[in-house]
Amino acid sequence: MAAKEYDVLIIGSGASGGMAAYTLTQMGVSCLMLDAGPAIDLAKDRGFKPVYDLPYRGFGEPGRFPHVVQANEFNANVWADEKQNPYTYDPKDPYNWVRVRLVGGKSLFWARMSFRLSDYEFRAKDHDGYGENWPIQYSDLAPYYDKVEPLFQVVGRKEGFPQLPDGVFLEDNSPDSECVQRFKAAAAQRDIPVTKMRRAMGRGQFASSFNLLIPPALATGKLDLVPNAVVREITVDKNTGLASGANFLDRHSRREMHAKARVVVVGASCLESTRLLLNSGIANSSGVLGHYLIDQFYITQTVQAVMPEARDGKAKRGLIGGGGYIPRFRNLKTREKNFLRGYALDFSSGGTPTPDVIPEYGEGLDKALASYQGAGFSGTTMGEVLSRFENHVSIDKDTVDAWGIPALRIQAAYTDNEFNMARDAMNTFDEVCRAAGLEVIAKHDKMFPPGYSIHELGTCRMGTDPKTSVLNQWNQSHDVKNLFVVDGSSFVTGGSQNPTMTILSLSMRASEYMAGRMRAGEL
Ligand SMILES: Cc1cc2nc3c(=O)[nH]c(=O)nc-3n(C[C@H](O)[C@H](O)[C@H](O)COP(=O)(O)OP(=O)(O)OC[C@H]3O[C@@H](n4cnc5c(N)ncnc54)[C@H](O)[C@@H]3O)c2cc1C
Repeated sequence: MAAKEYDVLIIGSGASGGMAAYTLTQMGVSCLMLDAGPAIDLAKDRGFKPVYDLPYRGFGEPGRFPHVVQANEFNANVWADEKQNPYTYDPKDPYNWVRVRLVGGKSLFWARMSFRLSDYEFRAKDHDGYGENWPIQYSDLAPYYDKVEPLFQVVGRKEGFPQLPDGVFLEDNSPDSECVQRFKAAAAQRDIPVTKMRRAMGRGQFASSFNLLIPPALATGKLDLVPNAVVREITVDKNTGLASGANFLDRHSRREMHAKARVVVVGASCLESTRLLLNSGIANSSGVLGHYLIDQFYITQTVQAVMPEARDGKAKRGLIGGGGYIPRFRNLKTREKNFLRGYALDFSSGGTPTPDVIPEYGEGLDKALASYQGAGFSGTTMGEVLSRFENHVSIDKDTVDAWGIPALRIQAAYTDNEFNMARDAMNTFDEVCRAAGLEVIAKHDKMFPPGYSIHELGTCRMGTDPKTSVLNQWNQSHDVKNLFVVDGSSFVTGGSQNPTMTILSLSMRASEYMAGRMRAGEL
């Protein structure tokens, strides 16, 4: 029997692939979705497990997650196993590649912080002369953000900040505690904007392709979803040069099969998508496939402080609690001397400082912790990383995964631009905390290795010029017209905003375009 030919083959069922399936099937396009991971049992795989249920306290055999700082004994069952899915790097430039291989991908576990990019990112080169502009501008993507936010039920407060455009929010009218009000006032005196966190609430605080995108796509009858299908390569018709489908292996039996389609959509997550294209030997006439890897550098607990009035059991609701978000404020109207672009800060109050920053031990430490209980204030810095050709991925021919597929070698390092920005963030946060009357206990600017933010972006970037970019303004390969890459690999700049709202909006926009072209007989 001849294999069924679908209109579109979608590789990956996470945020980007899920949005492609959602959009295309609503427009009557038949889709086959392949995902390397199993379909999860929500209660078993997403919920926390009791420690006594977890061999080796959840880490399984030692060495499965050496780069996943986020793994702990309660959630170790969800991350991609690094023994099965290896990658390499120069030991002096470590990279923390954090992956989830389950139907739904990382969208099962994301923290749901939801922001729009602005023309400070889309037209970044116009603003400061560095790097490249995107081939689209904010107004091209705004109508798609408008559709994605209600679908994901994003809560936020409208502020009119040009660098963090407002969206279609469920309005957050919750009052700020006195501590947060004082911090905001001190920030405002320095022209530093503060807003409420913007977060996708989805259904019951679960906002995944698994519950919001794939079920409606399946309900159209137009989607077939095949879990445990590890895609090895995209196949190309030698006569036409067009993509014809993909070769994939069953995760358990390792039996190899082929899926056929008129159009191929890749949404396997940034670096897996690029790995797939590199292993397929396609879409790289520019030579830039794999290059311009970016992410956001993260510094957790940049500053740890306490509110003196909330110490010694006085941390009452109304006085302290809640948090907020400082969007980028550097290099908008003025120019910093020692770095380009900017950073954001995500802060919260009402916790307790960590013992490692309290210069006490024994009884003294116990007393200090008791006094600080609930009076803490801290924040995480999230900084833009400049897009540089040298930061890149390539195929490591000497390393293969458990299915014999060549692995990635990742080369990424931060530069003085990021280090100087990190120092500025630390000192600025410290200054605002002190001005707000908070007692600063510790500050630092030590960033995690690249990759830690789980916001890897670039390596298959969009652009108007096929000589310097892989995709056009519709996430469509310049070289292979029926190939679309719809995840974060298409980003040209990353900004300091978490990327998933932009990934979802780009995928929806590309999919609407694709369906239109297919209808017109052009694809
Ligand atoms: C703990 C955590 C917190 C986060 N917090 C935020 C946040 O607050 N805000 C934000 O914007 N973002 C956040 N993120 C990032 C967010 O989850 C990702 O940006 C988003 O999921 C990316 O979507 P994607 O489709 O590119 O990849 P994924 O959602 O990871 O989906 C990729 C899918 O492709 C499949 N796949 C991979 N390789 C293959 C192959 N060879 N063959 C077949 N299938 C394959 C995988 O199994 C997976 O299901 C967070 C992520 C994590 C893990």
